[in-house]
Amino acid sequence: MSLASSTYRGRLAPSPTGFLHLGHARTFWIAQQRAVAAGGTLILRDEDLDPDRSQPHFRQAMLEDLRWLGLCWQEGPDVGGPFGPYRQSERHAVYREAWNRLLAAGWLYPCHCSRKDLALAMQAPHDDEGIYPGICRPATAQTGGVDTQAGVHWRFRVPEGEAIEFEDGHFGPQRFVAGRDFGDFLVWRRDDLPSYQLAVVVDDAAMRITEVVRGADLLKSTARQILLARALGVQSPAWYHCDLLRDEQGQRLAKRHDALSLRGLREQGKQPQELLRIFHTRG
Ligand code: GLU
Repeated sequence: MSLASSTYRGRLAPSPTGFLHLGHARTFWIAQQRAVAAGGTLILRDEDLDPDRSQPHFRQAMLEDLRWLGLCWQEGPDVGGPFGPYRQSERHAVYREAWNRLLAAGWLYPCHCSRKDLALAMQAPHDDEGIYPGICRPATAQTGGVDTQAGVHWRFRVPEGEAIEFEDGHFGPQRFVAGRDFGDFLVWRRDDLPSYQLAVVVDDAAMRITEVVRGADLLKSTARQILLARALGVQSPAWYHCDLLRDEQGQRLAKRHDALSLRGLREQGKQPQELLRIFHTRG
């Protein structure tokens, strides 16, 4: 049973593709603080869309390390809840239904381009997916008679030139122009998996998320997600993006920074309180 006294619903959305690092921990800590301050509910969603990179031992480590740090969620794959399943690999049918709706409304087109960066599309595109040059984009949107062949990618046709504006709870007003700051992005991959963008929009709506707290590397993705939500006729949540932690060389922390993984820090004997102090001083 939820102890929530408000309608605020936040989420932690880690991917089990490596050990979580200090940067994730800090973002998740902020997410928890915001949920607690609002008297709301926190959901943990296992973003294991990528079957090749998601691994059971990372999944187990991710839940253990977050609990060790003092995080606590009221709904999730390990505790259940009314909006499950909370594991993306078990939600294929929900994504497919959304894909169908987008297709019927003329938002999608098939793409035959082969690009090695497509592997990036089903997780958070932290390195960004670049602007698709439009090779397979038909001159006009099609709402019927599209050949729904398997084995092709499907892209979302962005409204070129439209400015997508939103207020970020941390960074203030944001503005990205479709076609200039980002292009037609992937929603479905040729190997029959949804992209990160589609999965996250569908899940945030289905799980009634009212505020998304995540890293600043996803600010531009928020513009894509606002377009997807609009096309699907669902309400977008509020947004709160957090500063990214950097290492001594000024590089953004990544899962390859083993020494700064929660696992590594635990093994070095660090205590959760010490990490929380770092968040406060570097925050
Ligand atoms: N699962 C994504 C990640 O690893 C985060 C997605 C999101 O918060 O929207 O980084």
